[in-house]
Amino acid sequence: MTPVTCFKDKRVLVFGLGGSGFATAQALMAGGANVIAWDDGEKGRDKAQAAGINVTDLRDVDWHGVDALILSPGVPLTHPEPHWSVFQAKAAGVEVIGDIELFVRERRLIAPDAPFIAITGTNGKSTTTALIAHLLREAGCDVQLGGNIGTAILSLEPPAPGRVHVVECSSFQIDLAPSLNPTVGVLLNLTPDHIDRHGSMEHYASIKERLVAASDTAIVGVDDDYSAAIAQRIAEMGVQVVPVSVVRPLAHGFHLSGTQLVRDGVAVADLAGIGSLRGKHNAQNAAAAFAAVTAIGVSEKIAARGLATFPGLAHRMEAVGRNGQVLYVNDSKATNADATEKALSAFERIFWIAGGRAKEGGIAALTDYFPRIVHAYLIGESSADFARTLDGIVPYTLSGTLDQAVRDAAEAARGHGVGEAVVLLSPACASYDQFPNFEVRGDRFRDAVRALPGVQP
Ligand code: ADP
Repeated sequence: MTPVTCFKDKRVLVFGLGGSGFATAQALMAGGANVIAWDDGEKGRDKAQAAGINVTDLRDVDWHGVDALILSPGVPLTHPEPHWSVFQAKAAGVEVIGDIELFVRERRLIAPDAPFIAITGTNGKSTTTALIAHLLREAGCDVQLGGNIGTAILSLEPPAPGRVHVVECSSFQIDLAPSLNPTVGVLLNLTPDHIDRHGSMEHYASIKERLVAASDTAIVGVDDDYSAAIAQRIAEMGVQVVPVSVVRPLAHGFHLSGTQLVRDGVAVADLAGIGSLRGKHNAQNAAAAFAAVTAIGVSEKIAARGLATFPGLAHRMEAVGRNGQVLYVNDSKATNADATEKALSAFERIFWIAGGRAKEGGIAALTDYFPRIVHAYLIGESSADFARTLDGIVPYTLSGTLDQAVRDAAEAARGHGVGEAVVLLSPACASYDQFPNFEVRGDRFRDAVRALPGVQP
């Protein structure tokens, strides 16, 4: 845990008692703050109470003399409209911040030079964060990994000289961290997402921009217009920017040449054959991670070697088994067509398992990739809709359930003849019609694959 001492003897309110709110309340108390916490949900309140946290409805609290309201990132700060606790804070002149801000202030107090790498972007955050932590561990560093991925930031060990914090930041967390100032900030890409919670694309982009604008070194993917404009703007402000592109060569920064990662015109690493980093999107993640760790002193040689041993994250193009020429890939995290496009573009000869609770537009945006699909196996609610899109272009089977689809696809792929083939679960749908979440769906796929005769993990 990182005790938060910067609010010692101060009165602090915490709203939201999920994983990060609970950790925040405890870290503030450990640092000597006088904490009152609340959550609309009974479960969070009960757990907090059992842990000795003062749980009181913040509507009944005297906001006079309160020093800060710490909001959980899931609670609306601005859109669609501010949460009632935010209105109350504003009325009482109380600042509203989040757990990353507390970490940043604490770091400034106790170890201002401790390296701190913060990662954001619309897609690829978790992969890049995990990859950076992996490369640093391979280089022998003391690494603390958390934030929006896994462990809440204040549950990590405190900043210390020589200890690197690698922290994934969602836009909501950045919005609640006005003095976020990482040693290295990474902005991977920007596409419309969570716009309902940010009001407009411009506002969403401006929040993400803050993370890199305040970094000592900013690593920015410049393949979309918003990120490219940000890179230019902050460079003009004097920030040291390392641009990354996977679609065009760059004289300064990182780009991709075939499977080679090129820095300032010189090849520094080869991504060929790294199963966990298939596809151009992962090349973007790899380049950004490489740039981040070398910016804090890891040698290019060690970083290049580390890329090759990255195990990858579960449910994101995760190779879960092989039977001869047939590879089985779990991409259950692909809950929309955009994410599935990345997987389809990384393979040829695909036996594709798709479907679930469809997003707007279904799979119509994927028609360019249909020639790669040997056969589709449709599951879940979206089956009839997806069948209509595929009809006459891609042969399909209405498998209904994931277990049946795995059996159907395995049998067809086995008999498919020579050459590599892939049985790919990349549903382009949410899982909620048949599973509690995408993780359970991916676990089920992995289990079903490994139960097939002849499949090796
Ligand atoms: P996040 O944490 O931002 O949600 P993940 O690393 O969990 O991102 O990846 C989620 C999905 O997003 C992946 O399964 C893949 O389909 C897609 N993806 C990953 N990296 C990128 C990238 N750099 N650009 C675009 N899409 C990506």
